[in-house]
Amino acid sequence: STPTVQAAIERAEARTAHNYHPLPVVLAHGEGAWMTDVDGRRYLDLLAGYSALNFGHSHPRLVAAAHAQLDKLTLTSRAFIHDVFADFCAALGDLCGKELVLPMNTGAEAVETAIKVSRKWGYEVKGVPADQARIIVAGGNFHGRTTTIVGFSDDPDARNGFGPFTPGFDMVPYGDLAALEAAITPHTVAVLIEPIQGEGGVIIPPDGYLRDVREVCTRENVLLAADEIQAGLGRTGRTFACDHEGVVPDLYLLGKALGGGIVPVSAVVGDRSVLGVLKPGQHGSTFGGNPLACAVGSEVVSMLATGEFQTRATELGLVLRERLDALVGHGVIAVRSRGLWAGVDIDPTIGTGREICERLMARGVLAKDTHGSTIRLAPPLVISDEDLHWGIDQLAAVLG
Ligand code: PLP
Repeated sequence: STPTVQAAIERAEARTAHNYHPLPVVLAHGEGAWMTDVDGRRYLDLLAGYSALNFGHSHPRLVAAAHAQLDKLTLTSRAFIHDVFADFCAALGDLCGKELVLPMNTGAEAVETAIKVSRKWGYEVKGVPADQARIIVAGGNFHGRTTTIVGFSDDPDARNGFGPFTPGFDMVPYGDLAALEAAITPHTVAVLIEPIQGEGGVIIPPDGYLRDVREVCTRENVLLAADEIQAGLGRTGRTFACDHEGVVPDLYLLGKALGGGIVPVSAVVGDRSVLGVLKPGQHGSTFGGNPLACAVGSEVVSMLATGEFQTRATELGLVLRERLDALVGHGVIAVRSRGLWAGVDIDPTIGTGREICERLMARGVLAKDTHGSTIRLAPPLVISDEDLHWGIDQLAAVLG
């Protein structure tokens, strides 16, 4: 890297906790699928902020919505009602086909919220004895970084050294219906699951699995809480990853792209019969549902309501898949994808995922490895066909 970039990296490393190992790039500008570094060098963004940038950088509609709100009102706290709150909740509820919306900020907060709501529903509606509620989660899950959430992760990096952990979670292998059925007890209040495991490496469960999980949950009076934080909002070619199997969860957990890559916005969306268990004083957030978040979130919802981004993800997803399939046997061991989202397992004799990402960076493409040898590709849904092809050309080149 150049002296400017190197100096900027050193300054950052000197004064931040090292809880990340970023690629050695220092970005200063973003537009659409492209970012520019402090030296003016351009990079194609194939990570899209872990799907928080589904609409790309600086989407004009989202920037305009944010600017307009910035000049009017940015924060009230929920102690008062502001004039963009109702529209956001109604629009997001309608997008999900649900009655109520509970806005928070980060994905982890949405997950925590769903855990609290599920437990309370268990005690007040299902009749589970006090403090006995159990929630089923999947092996290989990633739901965020709070102490409760890492307590039910099976990734040693995520959990080791952070105990003691919150009790009340049972883990079953992802995609194994029989194991899930066997784990249900009269005290089970919810199944918390990612319809596709993003951090796990874009792991897609067997066909019919989500539909079967839905049926089991309904039969056993257990809530289905779908963590669509990374998979949802257009990424897979449908509004929600659950849509691919016609599954409607009891709770949608949303985040990332809901804030348009501008502000952190998350939400738990469900019907009154579930979210209605929360009464004043029992849950909240200073910033949750703030005017700026609601203005941007409302624009995101109206962009998704037309279906154009979902269609784009489907069309480009076919291109991505065809190009990646052609790399199998040429440095790639396996490919999994749905919509414009792929996990690419790299042949370890060619390099680690990290090394491949470093080589991609040298060619002007930014991507991120996960779990050692997998590269996750999640380009902004606004990427052009030409740029997508160019990006995959670079991947082919670094593997060759
Ligand atoms: N759930 C899923 C499926 C995620 O992929 C993530 C983040 O990667 C989260 C939850 C946590 O979101 P946040 O980082 O906004 O807390």
